[in-house]
Amino acid sequence: GTLPHRSQVDTALDEAYRRALSHHEGTVADYIPVLGAADPEAFGLCIADVSGDVHEVGDTRTAFSIQSISKAFVYALVCEGIGHREVRELVGVDNTGLPFNSVMAIELAGGHPRNPMVNAGAIATTALMPGATPERKWQLVIEGLSRFAGRQLELDDEVYRSESDTNDRNRAIARLLYSYGRMRADPVETVDVYTKQCSLLVDARDLAVMGATLADGGVNPLTGDQVVSPEVSRDTLAVLASAGLYEHSGEWLYEIGLPGKSGVAGGLVTVAPGKGGLGAWAPPLDGAGNSVRGQIATAHLSRTLGLNIFASA
Ligand code: GLN
Repeated sequence: GTLPHRSQVDTALDEAYRRALSHHEGTVADYIPVLGAADPEAFGLCIADVSGDVHEVGDTRTAFSIQSISKAFVYALVCEGIGHREVRELVGVDNTGLPFNSVMAIELAGGHPRNPMVNAGAIATTALMPGATPERKWQLVIEGLSRFAGRQLELDDEVYRSESDTNDRNRAIARLLYSYGRMRADPVETVDVYTKQCSLLVDARDLAVMGATLADGGVNPLTGDQVVSPEVSRDTLAVLASAGLYEHSGEWLYEIGLPGKSGVAGGLVTVAPGKGGLGAWAPPLDGAGNSVRGQIATAHLSRTLGLNIFASA
């Protein structure tokens, strides 16, 4: 099936927006200092369907850093580049049940990162990006993510510097993985590429288009560009279903029934396979680092548009 009629999607989007707007829980991330300055009332919602129709409400054209949402798309690019078998072996696909920057999760798994959506697995995945140098890997990351978005993405220098100055924890995670033989490139250089990928600027509309590309078997519905294969899209969505919202992935799947990925700047991308992508942005986060309003709005949309992949009717 496809999405309901245009006017129904617009109505559902407005309702989802208004419902979520009445929620004021959550806190803006500030462990990356510059993110603490985000407007807690900023809120945008966008749906892009696989035929290229785009529906928007609120702050959908305001840029923010993609953060962990980049992990999903870099994972897809790496699977496309080197095949998913090797990535699965090295990075895994199981939820850790622990916070995204957990060191304990690595130790409990005997040095294995467990999945590409926590920082450890994402850094190990970035290390697998084709390209012999960190510069080349970064170039391929920005090119690839721009193809998912259907426009040239840019780095937010301020976010990049703010995170670079404070990410000793990610460097420690990378060195720990390296010590276990789980990093295929220099740990410190790889964290730098990872920090840049997290600092790419997107808006809620970009996220919807990027999600719609995964929904459409890897074809960007706006540009017609085949960014990754249908198999890679499918495998990426499976990983998002199990680990996209960190230790809240089970609750998310139970409530919403769709693969999704969050980022600490308040972005949230959700994919309705074969139908479309949903991009949300609202900076206040729950305890796991997921946008509060983004989750509430997405839950409403999943219910009213009949998107839950486990529903038989
Ligand atoms: N760049 C952030 C970090 O590495 C991304 C985390 C996130 O969005 N959950 O900590």
